[in-house]
Amino acid sequence: MAAKKHFHCKDVGYDCNWQLEGNSEDEMLPVIEKHAAEVHNLTHFKDQAVEHVLEAIRRNG
Ligand SMILES: [Zn+2]
Repeated sequence: MAAKKHFHCKDVGYDCNWQLEGNSEDEMLPVIEKHAAEVHNLTHFKDQAVEHVLEAIRRNG
């Protein structure tokens, strides 16, 4: 069984304690996108932001 993946909002520079645990990046991205829209008013999740998120998840292993 694969290890869980983790994302912390502060990994991408927000002063925010929100974090997420998931099984895959594909599963996590829409949830992160929703959080970014609702809490950080980031309504259009640009490709560069997606890349930062994916890098952060990979870094956390
Ligand atoms: Zn956040």
